[in-house]
Order: sequence, then structure tokens, then C-alpha cells
Amino acid sequence: MNPQDYIAKHVSGLPRSGIRDFFAIVSEMPQAISLGIGEPDFITPWKIRESSIFALEKGKTSYTDNRGLLSLRKEISAYVEKHFGPAYDPGNEILVTVGVSEAIDIALRALINPGDKVMYHEPCYVSYAPSISLAFGEAIPVATSPDYSFALDPDAFERAWEPGCKVLMLNFPTNPTGGTANREKLEKLAKFAVEKDLIVISDEIYAELTYEGEHLSIASFPGMQDRTIFLHGFSKAFAMTGFRVGFACGPDWLIDAMMKIHQYCMMCAPILSQEAAIEALRNGIEDVLRMRDQYSKRRDFVVRRFNEMGLDCHLPRGSFYAFPSVSPSTGLDEVEFCHRLLRESEVAVVPGTAFGPHGKGHVRASFSTSYEKLVEATSRMEKFVDQVRAENQSVPAAG
Ligand code: PLP
Repeated sequence: MNPQDYIAKHVSGLPRSGIRDFFAIVSEMPQAISLGIGEPDFITPWKIRESSIFALEKGKTSYTDNRGLLSLRKEISAYVEKHFGPAYDPGNEILVTVGVSEAIDIALRALINPGDKVMYHEPCYVSYAPSISLAFGEAIPVATSPDYSFALDPDAFERAWEPGCKVLMLNFPTNPTGGTANREKLEKLAKFAVEKDLIVISDEIYAELTYEGEHLSIASFPGMQDRTIFLHGFSKAFAMTGFRVGFACGPDWLIDAMMKIHQYCMMCAPILSQEAAIEALRNGIEDVLRMRDQYSKRRDFVVRRFNEMGLDCHLPRGSFYAFPSVSPSTGLDEVEFCHRLLRESEVAVVPGTAFGPHGKGHVRASFSTSYEKLVEATSRMEKFVDQVRAENQSVPAAG
């Protein structure tokens, strides 16, 4: 029996996530400091955990409405209107999902006919290209540039547009670059989406972790609420990755289509996580701001240290990732840099190409790690980089 004869071709053709393979190695190295993981180092705030425990004690162990608890959808509606602008009806314009991961998957599956094109900016979150392939769509990646701190670039989208483009996927602040978009760029992007009649899937999961300026949702721009699926969740800002809860807001006809898939593949998000999410939205924002403050200090520190050691690094305006350039100053490509850094100095960072070819020459270093560990990790990195440069100088020139 040849297993490959049985696996669907569009699945066997998918690459394995480069991040997972790498971190299987890291988990075997007890002294290693990992700047690789894309999740908060904070434990979920106690009152949020407690609300889940309390719900369990009260025997809340059932399914919920497929769309999610109405009480949670009401909280989401109020929170989104207060912090992002658009008002969504909890009855038919909000769907609670198993993380933003599920929301991305079902939004694409609800929209894409085989061959429909999906534009997105790159480097980007690892699941975008595979999720598009799994929905039988065609991926149109559009590069963002280190010269502009990887900010979203409406002109680049306009240049890359081609007939058959149906969906524009955005994520800002961006994983892995920390890029964002200001009002002017968002206005242009919104005009572009209207002109080209695109549906926008806007993944704003890092919105609260914005350090410079104000986060604006594209759904709040004229003409956009009717053509945007706004995605958000609890994993990052509320430090709730393990709860697996997120949500999608959008026009009722889009949410209905997503709901058709969600009801068969997921049924509903776990009730205990939904109870925790209600508490997060009602009383969690102070904790979010406390964590953001910590991330902001750590960000300033790591970015300064990378630049001091000659690894060019822009100041990420949001998220908890720094994305320094490593190749020009060390002569190593990003994969070699990561492997050698791990083997020789026991620090783990992720090759930029794990986030698409446009991440070449860069690595992603997460600052969702304690300040003390960041001090130690950056000092190990500095020694490593100095040593690589010394080796380069001792190699006799060719010819
Ligand atoms: N979107 C982005 C940009 C992410 O970085 C991540 C996780 O790293 C997700 C979505 C998935 O989040 P969730 O835990 O809500 O599924």
C-alpha cells in the first residue's frame, strides 16, 4: 500500500510548517532560549481562568448555539463597536469560532470557487497560503518592504491585481513583521477594494498590541463594512491561545455562508472558552494594557540590541515580533543562520522564509519572552554574530 496514493493531491502537496520541525529540535535542548514561539509568555489573567472554572463548577458542559453564546456575541458587538467602530448585530452578523484559525479557513472556503484569486501581503502568517490552497484558490502574494517597515502598501496591491481576484486578505499589525497601516494607506486600500469589487478578510488579531499610533480597522472605512469579514480573537492580546476562541463579524449573508461550514465541521466553540471570553471582554482590558506595556519595553530593548550588533531591524509598530535582517551582515542565509544559532548558541529564532519567500534574509524573533531571557538571548546572539563575521574575515578571498 502506498500511502501517497490515498492522500488527496492538494493535501500531499502542502509543505509542512517549517516552524514545527524547528521547534521539535528546540524542545530537546533544555538550555535553549526560544524566541520562536508566536504566543504570549503570560498566563491567562486569573479572573478569566476563574470564570471558566466557575462555569465548569456550575456544570456548563454542553454545546452552545452554533453561532456562539448570545451573551458572548452581545459582548463582542459592544467591544468591537467601542474599539473598532462598526456596529454588528449579535443576532446574525457575528460568529464565534475556534480561534481566528478556524475563521480564516471557513471565510476562504465560503468565498472561493476553484481558481478564484486571493491577494495578500507577504511575509505573512504561515497559514494563509495553505488555507487558500485548501480552499482551491490561487494565491497572489504581494511583497511588503523592509524599506517601509513592512507597512501595507496599496500601490503594490494595485500593481499586482489581475482579473479573477476576488478576495483581499489583510493582517495588521502583521505577523511576522509588526507592519501596520496608517489612515491614508487604509483609505487607499478601501478605495481599491471597492473599485475592484473585492471582499476583504481582515485579520486584526494583534490590534490591541499596537505601540505607535492608533489601530484603525479597515471595516470602519466608507463602503467597507458591507464587504469586510473582520476577524479577531483572544489568543494574543488576552493571552488565551489554549482556549481556542475567536470570532468573525460581517454582513449577514457572509456570516450565514461561514456558519454553514462551521455548523458541520466544528458545531461550536467550547463553552468553557466562550465563558472565559465573556469575562475577557467585560473586565480584561486592564490586563491587556499591562501586558502591552511589557511587550513595548521588550520591543524597544530587542530592536536596539539587534541594531547594535549590526542586524538591521525596523521598529515594529505592533504585534510581538521583531524581524531583523541577518544575511547582508553575516553572509548566512536565514535558514543557515537559524540552524547555526541554535546549534552553536542555543537561541531559537524562525527563518523569515517560513512566512513566505519574501521573508528571505530575515528572521523572526518573538519578544513574548521575559526581559531577562531577552537580555541573555541577545547577548548570545551578539557573540554568535561576531564569531561568524570573524570567520568570514579569516576565509582567504577566492582567486
Ligand atoms: N492570525 C494571525 C496573524 C496569527 O499570527 C495567528 C497565530 O499566530 C492566528 C491568526 C491564529 O490565531 P488563533 O489562536 O486565534 O487561532
